Amino acid sequence: MPAVIRGGAVLILGGTAEARELARRLSETEVAALTSLAGRVARPALPVGRVRIGGFGGVDGLMAFLRAEPIMAVIDATHPFAEQISDHAFRAAVEVGIPLLRLHRPGWREHPDASGWRWVPDTAAALVAADSARRPFVTTGRQSLASYLPWADRAVLARVVDPPEFVVPPAWTLVTSRGPYRLDLELETMRAHGADALVTKDSGGTHTAAKLAAARALGVPVVVIARPLDPAGPSVSTVDAALVWCRRLASPTR
Ligand code: NAP
Repeated sequence: MPAVIRGGAVLILGGTAEARELARRLSETEVAALTSLAGRVARPALPVGRVRIGGFGGVDGLMAFLRAEPIMAVIDATHPFAEQISDHAFRAAVEVGIPLLRLHRPGWREHPDASGWRWVPDTAAALVAADSARRPFVTTGRQSLASYLPWADRAVLARVVDPPEFVVPPAWTLVTSRGPYRLDLELETMRAHGADALVTKDSGGTHTAAKLAAARALGVPVVVIARPLDPAGPSVSTVDAALVWCRRLASPTR
């Protein structure tokens, strides 16, 4: 059954550079937008326009939100590894009858170096694949960092946006920063640490891709955690395409 077209704002499920870019571009159009952030990081990069922060309370909470607020459509522009909110968004949008589009940045499968990397399904497999490393550079994010505690006695360089909730082993170096990252600085970081492996996940996009070129330049092996399966529902890979979708929805005769 086709979704009923309603008035109101586009709800952008955010937490990514693409979500911020979409909010900025929509602010230059007649389409109103409301960005939702999970509230995980202490100082989130805030998008232009209206913002709400915090979980909805599961799929039921999101459905209640979509019914209570004047929301015309949902753009799920969350991180490719944020599986739960994408699943909730799909189920809630179907249930409430609101159009949903996934804005999904392309991954690094097509990167020119991708065939030389070790692709693994999860963190446990990454630990095995990079087991010979003694000075690994780990950039898989704060939420998964505790999984690397079996490497407590190795000189892990862990880069995260916010510090983790556990006490980092004394052998580790914790760097808190947020991209985008430049190639020259990534080279300097990896050289200074003497990194002998890069462990990352297939976040895709360009903001954090310089480390991959740095690894190639320095001959550092790369282990990449593959993306989860694509979430259900229609998707686009560029902000431009999402913008066209929103504007068509707001003015169907366009
Ligand atoms: P997740 O596991 O898919 O979601 C867990 C719960 O967090 C959801 O059930 C929802 O809570 C809440 N949530 C997530 N995104 C939300 C949003 N945009 N607005 C409101 N509530 C949200 O998500 P995650 O992996 O923890 O990621 C959390 C946020 O960080 C996302 O916005 C994502 O885009 C961003 N991010 C994630 C990663 C990553 O690697 N996972 C990397 C960079 C940025 P309720 O069930 O209570 O609604």
